[in-house]
Order: sequence, then C-alpha cells, then structure tokens
Amino acid sequence: MYNAVICRYHEIATKGNNRYLFENQLIENMRYLLRGAGDLKIAKVRGRIWISRRDKQDFTEDELQVIREGMGYAFGLESFSPVIMGAPDIGFLRETVRRCAGGFFDAAFEKRDKVAFAIRTRRSDKSFPMRSKEIEIDIAEVVNDNFGRGDGLYVNLDRPDVTVFCEVRDEFSFVYFESIKGPGGLPVGSNPPVLALLSGGIDSPVACNMLMKRGCRVHYVTFHSDPYTPPESTEKVRRIADALNKWQRPGKLFICNLVEIQKAIRDNCNSRYRTVLYRRMMFRIAEKLLGRCGAKAIITGESVGQVASQTIVNLGTIDSAIQTLVLRPLIGMDKSEAIDIARRIGTFELSSWQVPDSCTVFAPDQPATSVPQDRAEHDEERLGDYEAMLDRIVEECEIYTSGGGGGK
Ligand code: ATP
Ligand code: MG
Repeated sequence: MYNAVICRYHEIATKGNNRYLFENQLIENMRYLLRGAGDLKIAKVRGRIWISRRDKQDFTEDELQVIREGMGYAFGLESFSPVIMGAPDIGFLRETVRRCAGGFFDAAFEKRDKVAFAIRTRRSDKSFPMRSKEIEIDIAEVVNDNFGRGDGLYVNLDRPDVTVFCEVRDEFSFVYFESIKGPGGLPVGSNPPVLALLSGGIDSPVACNMLMKRGCRVHYVTFHSDPYTPPESTEKVRRIADALNKWQRPGKLFICNLVEIQKAIRDNCNSRYRTVLYRRMMFRIAEKLLGRCGAKAIITGESVGQVASQTIVNLGTIDSAIQTLVLRPLIGMDKSEAIDIARRIGTFELSSWQVPDSCTVFAPDQPATSVPQDRAEHDEERLGDYEAMLDRIVEECEIYTSGGGGGK
C-alpha cells in the first residue's frame, strides 16, 4: 500500500552552507545501499529525502524489505517512514486512513480490549481549507466509524497504541503510521577516509563503526605472523571487514605479514618491550599505506589501561613513531561498553572465534607497562635498516575488497 518513503535527518540540518554536501552524500549512499531494490527515485524535497518508484506505483513487499533493511545502515539518517502519498485534499486522507489503517488497529486489538489512538497532523500548506485541529477531528471520526469495535477505541495523545500521521503540503499530502529509527550520525564520505588497525578482537571493529558513524569511510590494515599464526587469523578479519562494509562502499583491507620484523625485535630488543615495539612498527606500516587508500588518519581500538601496551606512557610511545593523527574512539570505554556496541553492530559473534593474534606471537610473560620513548628508540637502533623491512612488508601485502559491487 505504500508508494513513498520519507527520510529525516537532523544533525545535517545544522550544517549551514555545507549542508547540501551532506545531503548529496546521504542520497548517494542511499542509492548504493538500496541498489537491490529496483529502479528507485531518491530525491531531496525541502529538508527531507523521498524514495519512490520511478513509475510511482506502490512498492512491493520485497522492495520495502530492502529499503527497511538498507536504511538501517544509512548513517546520517535520523528516522524514516513508509507513507501513502496522494492529492492534497481531505478526501484522500479520509479514504487512505479507511483503506490502510485497519491492520494497525487489528494488531493493537490483539494485545488489548481497549485501544488508545492519536491523530497527528502537520499542515505546511497554510492555504489548505482546514486547520490541523479540524483535520485531526475529521480523521478521528473516520477511525471511530471504521475500526471502533463498539466502545473499544479512545483517544490518548500521550501514549497511543496506534498513531495516524497526516501531513499536508502544497502539492501533495500523505499518511503514515510509524517512524522507524535510523542509525543517526553523518553520511559516510562526508569526512575524509581513515585507515583502521583491524584485529580479530572485539574493540577495533567497534572503533571502525564509530568513525563510519561520524562520516569517515574506513579502510583496514591487519597484521598476521604466518607461519606462526594460522590462515584462520586473517580469514576472521576478512569476515569482520565484510560485516563492517555493510555501512559503506567496501573499504580495502591490507593484509600484512609482520613476522620478519617481529623476529628482528625478538632477537635484538628488550623482551619486555616487544608489544610496544610491534605496535610502533604496525603504525609505521599503516602510515606508509595511507597514500594507497587516501586515508587521513589512523584509528585503533585501544582504551586506556586495558592491557600493558595501552597505558598512557605506552600509548604516547607508540604515537611518537609516526606523524599521522591517531584516533582512538574507545579510549574511555569499559570493555563491557565495547561489547554492547559489538553485539548491536553484529561483529561480536565474529570476534568470538578463538584464533591467535599476531600481537601474541613471541609475546613476553611480563610486558613493560612503561616504555619511555627514548628506550624504544634506543632498542630500535639495534634493528639496523628496519625501514627496508617495512617497505618490503608494504610491497608484499595482499589487498582484499569484499564483494558487494562498489568501491573497488
Ligand atoms: P580485544 O578486543 O581483545 O581488546 P584488540 O584487537 O583490541 O582486541 P589489543 O591487543 O587490545 O586487541 O590491541 C589494541 C589495538 O591494536 C586493536 O584495537 C587494533 O586496533 C590494534 N591491533 C592489535 N592487533 C592487531 C593486528 N593483528 N592487526 C591490526 N591491528 C591490530
Ligand atoms: Mg583491545
């Protein structure tokens, strides 16, 4: 019965002169996310985005399903509603409510004997012959006459079981019954891309999703230590990247073998510094990869104090290895908070697959919680020309891009 979907965004509305850039990005992203739903028209009309079929016919159930699902991944979207759109007159509103509201009242009566309802009207066309209040009373009568079941219905504006929304604009009017929450945030692509250090853990996928939510397309780099880590370690990260790419045109996943440099660190440096030194090398490699994906910052899933390598001193020592901006969106989060988000975005299950991580290869029993920068630099001098090793790792890295069509 629905022939259009109205999409609302709120944070974008505060963007002043740049607003159209955010709106256009959101529309482009919606086109991508809804590419499986047939030939759709997606257009901006006065502060809202409208989706309809090009032939203006009703959506099929399948199309609506694709839209409902796809819109859940459209960062920048506050909420959306499937609507029945037609002429701007009271006859259309009455007839539409009579024809389409029944299912919602039936569902409510299945749960209780008495059903509360509300009519909500917005009238942006002030020349319309009836005021909002009058429309509400008129439509309430239609509801009572058609779905009343004796005295089963009553009006409750604060906590209705069924709400009928009617909006009147100058060229059209529409009716809808529900407002579905979107994922919020800003459209992916409205901020520059970033490169995530993606492990198979719980935290880094959450960090990726948080940056996508703020408008950054995320590319990924993961490190393995083949033959000391099994192929499953990278397979797990590929699956996580696939899951994360549902929110965006797929980002590139750079898969790098860290083992050569790990061995050099094992053989030449203080064993208690290993994790911090590995991490400095990961950052250096990530920095070299920025140009290959256009990323402007590096992100990680680190949070203060979680493990020895994430003390304030060690985070500082890791940062000092590179010049690039490093973002750590989980920095003040408890593990349980990260887990909640991971469950919500669907990466928790994937992260629960127990396979070894590159970081734990040759890991010391007692990692140092405070590795001063000068000590790290001093130990790295013993590695000789590690830059050549890093360049080799970058050159030999494998690039994986998930299926899905876009973004290659
Ligand atoms: P967990 O969820 O178990 O904490 P984690 O991936 O966060 O997993 P940590 O040892 O806390 O593991 O690592 C901190 C951060 O370092 C990660 O969030 C990730 O950004 C980066 N990192 C760790 N190991 C790797 C790896 N093998 N490849 C890429 N990045 C990694
Ligand atoms: Mg962690």
